[in-house]
Amino acid sequence: HPLSIAIDGPSGSGKSSVSKAVARSLGLAYLDTGAMYRAATLWVMGRGIALDDQVAVARAVKDMPLVQVLDPVSPGVELDGIDVADAIRSADVTTNVSKVATNLDVRGELRARQRAIIDQERATGGFSAGRGIVAEGRDITTVVAPDADVRILLTASEEARLARRSLEVNGTANKEAVDSMRDQVVRRDRDDSTVTQFTVAADGVVTLDSSDLDFDQTVAAALRIVAK
Ligand code: C5P
Repeated sequence: HPLSIAIDGPSGSGKSSVSKAVARSLGLAYLDTGAMYRAATLWVMGRGIALDDQVAVARAVKDMPLVQVLDPVSPGVELDGIDVADAIRSADVTTNVSKVATNLDVRGELRARQRAIIDQERATGGFSAGRGIVAEGRDITTVVAPDADVRILLTASEEARLARRSLEVNGTANKEAVDSMRDQVVRRDRDDSTVTQFTVAADGVVTLDSSDLDFDQTVAAALRIVAK
C-alpha cells in the first residue's frame, strides 16, 4: 500500500533535510515544493517580467518547463533542461520568492502540479514504483494533500531556526551571523503566512517541535510518528 507523508514548517525548521532522511529511510520519493516556488521565481526573473505584474507572472509560470528528480539521495531541479539546483538558492531568489508565492494563480498552477506528482507516486510507476512519497512545504498538510496518510508540522523556536539557517548560509551561528539572518527569515515567514498556514497545526496534523532535538533525534521522532 503506497504511503503519502506531508511535512510543513517555517524556514529553518529543518523540514527539507528531515523530509529527505525520512524518504530515504522508507524508500519513498521526495518532493520539495519550495524548490518549485524558487524555480518559478528564477524563471520569471530570467524573463525580465516585473514580479508585481500578477498576470504576466502567472502566465509565465503556466509555461514553466520544470522537471524535478524525486530521488531523496540526490534531488534534482531542471528548468528547460538546465540544472538550477544551486541557482534557486541564491540570495536574489530567496529575497523575491514570497512575491511569486503569494500570487494566487501561481499557487493554483503549482499546487496542481504537486498533486499530479503525489498521485503519480501513489500509483504504480513513478520514481518510487508506487511505494509513495514525502512532500514538504508550507501548505501540503492543509491544502495540497490534506488526505495524506501522515501529516506533520515541523516547528522550532525562532532562535533555533535562525541558528540553523545561519549555519547553512554563513557557515557559523555566532551572534552577529544569526542577527544578520533575522530580518530576512522573519520577513519571509511573515509574508508567506499571508497565504499559507504553517505556524499552527491544522486538525489532525501532528506537531513535532525540534527546538531541543538534534537532526538524528528529529528524524527518529518523525519516523515514530509515521509508524504509529
Ligand atoms: O522551503 P523553502 O524555503 O525553499 O521555500 C521557499 C519559498 O517558497 C517560501 O518562502 C514560500 O514563499 C514558498 N512556498 C510556498 N508554499 C510551499 C512551499 C514553499 O509558498 N508549499
